[in-house]
Amino acid sequence: MAAGPDLDTILKDAHLPALMAALVHVTGDKAWLKSEWTPTYNPLARDDIGIPEAEQAKVREAAKAAILAHLEGKPIQLRDPDPATLRRMIDFVAGAPIPESYADFLTDELALAGKSSKDPQFDQPKLQAAARKLKVLVIGAGMSGLLAGIRLSQAGVPFEIVDKNADVGGTWYENTYPGCRVDNSNHMYSYSFEPNHFWPQHFSTQPVLLSYFRGIAEKYDLRKHIRFETFVDEVAWDEARNVWRARLRGKDGKIETVEANAVISAVGQLNRPKFPDLEGLGSFEGPAFHSAEWRHDVELTGKRVAVIGTGASAYQFVPEIAPDVAELKVFQRTPPWGLPVPHYHEDVAEGKKWLLEHVPFYDKWYRFWLFWMVTDGFLPMVKSDPAWNGGPRAVGPENAMLREMVEQSFAAQLADRPDLLPKITPDYPIGGKRAVLDNGVWLAALKRRNVELITDKIARIDPKGVVTADGVLHEVDVLIYGTGFQASNFLSFLKVKGRGGRELHDEWGGDARAYLGVTIPGYPNLFLTYGPNTNIVVNGSIIFFSECAIRYIVGCLKLLAETGASAMEPKREVHDAFNAKVDQANEGWAWGSPHVSSWYKNAFGRVSQNWPFELIDYWRATLAPNPDDYVLERTPETVA
Ligand code: NAP
Repeated sequence: MAAGPDLDTILKDAHLPALMAALVHVTGDKAWLKSEWTPTYNPLARDDIGIPEAEQAKVREAAKAAILAHLEGKPIQLRDPDPATLRRMIDFVAGAPIPESYADFLTDELALAGKSSKDPQFDQPKLQAAARKLKVLVIGAGMSGLLAGIRLSQAGVPFEIVDKNADVGGTWYENTYPGCRVDNSNHMYSYSFEPNHFWPQHFSTQPVLLSYFRGIAEKYDLRKHIRFETFVDEVAWDEARNVWRARLRGKDGKIETVEANAVISAVGQLNRPKFPDLEGLGSFEGPAFHSAEWRHDVELTGKRVAVIGTGASAYQFVPEIAPDVAELKVFQRTPPWGLPVPHYHEDVAEGKKWLLEHVPFYDKWYRFWLFWMVTDGFLPMVKSDPAWNGGPRAVGPENAMLREMVEQSFAAQLADRPDLLPKITPDYPIGGKRAVLDNGVWLAALKRRNVELITDKIARIDPKGVVTADGVLHEVDVLIYGTGFQASNFLSFLKVKGRGGRELHDEWGGDARAYLGVTIPGYPNLFLTYGPNTNIVVNGSIIFFSECAIRYIVGCLKLLAETGASAMEPKREVHDAFNAKVDQANEGWAWGSPHVSSWYKNAFGRVSQNWPFELIDYWRATLAPNPDDYVLERTPETVA
């Protein structure tokens, strides 16, 4: 007889609050939600759930019996808890009562019955017939483009996806630098409807992510809809016929024009490498490349290497290359905040994988816990308090408290190198820029004998290396730019001619705006994902935003199908009022602080990247388009 699972070992790896909620379903017994078992979380120590060890042992013992009974065939007792029970379960796993206003949002995110508001609702035959007559062009086959493909398939809307790359995956296809990995917990950084119970690590590496998205393309049979190695360089709105005409350039340079009723941009925000505006750029004699265009043919072992930039990318590849190179000079303009996440590089314990796979609803509640803890639950930490008078290094008391905790973590790591402390401690508030996850490898790399952290201003690039403002030439063999992306230059590669042939970039004048990040007056049926003001700094996964945006876009297509209109664009006043609210709200967060300069702000100093409200607000605003926000227009002449 095959041995059963070793539940004593497995249960050591359980996230107990999520498990207890799951066991309410499995056993139908609400006693799992005992008040003495209510967790209290420590935001900087994930395994600390605040339940005494003796009580945890009792929970595990009881859980073991319940799981065994389930494995022996006892049916699930409570698939669909009543609202009051569900509410108790949500509060329990969150560790404290969450505001009532979140209940519908979190219930939808939980999707206990496998259904959510994000599923396309094209159920009537008339709608389905109208949907079949549409054609949508999706630009990009990364995370958002694949998602668009899935949802359009489900809605029965014909579509084509065009991508400049030779494969799916977008950012996970392009960024192959050593150490590249996701910095959002994978059990949340995955489509809500496509959990992976077997993520090898909590924050998996790029090849794993790429393989997930390739798997998605296969599962949903999307490849047959994708044209690879094809560049869309212009889309123009034909006002006489209410269609977009897109100019596609193939790998061989062949130009083709395709027409579509709607265009969905799924090109991401962070994929056009940005090189610093430095004198002598390009004059370096040795190999020089950007982190997003990693030259795997360039041998770094035993070489003298300079890295410019200490953002999220450099933070990942510097510790990887440091042991191999002869010398590493890291040029830092502004230090990053590293939030302690000890398990950042750790494997997911086998017990956790087993529980995710075998205990019904455990995956849902585990994801829910991650979702709540790092999304809206974290936001108070970076909220600006108007009454704050504690100086520019924080924006409020909670932000200051977090700074203190992180500074302690820095100090502990640098007990043997206190000289580094002032250099690596940011003077801007936490949340001002994207914080990175600190498991110690960054500071360990900076402490190495062969690594030097240089904080002097760079004066110029020289054929032999990097010259700092003090006149020193730092001679190196290889130069790596970890200098980020042209983030605020939305759709920079694409000419977009809207009504009257007006070019979108002229319209924007370098200050990109959209309604809900999705639609733009004068550009009918053009829908953006990850558009202006839909990035997030600390709270959660961009997949959530894409799922909401795509739901909204599919809702817009539904509105067209329902009304018989063939064009829709937001009313100018609706768009402007929304953007005014966004600008005002962005001032209320650490990233909007006047003491911070970052790629979240465009050339005008306006925060053009970030969503300044809570996630629930984006969820709610994108449930479905409000017809009153739009000008709907019938086709002057029906498209064949
Ligand atoms: P980044 O955060 O924009 O960092 C660029 C770095 O280059 C910064 O340290 C910046 O300094 C520095 N820099 C730029 N111009 C410079 C100059 N002229 N002289 C000296 N230093 C200069 O870019 P990134 O690291 O590629 O990350 C961009 C974003 O991509 C992240 O915030 C994140 O959203 C995403 N990302 C995510 C992951 C992940 O999930 N795993 C990994 C990588 C990137 P300043 O700070 O002073 O501007």
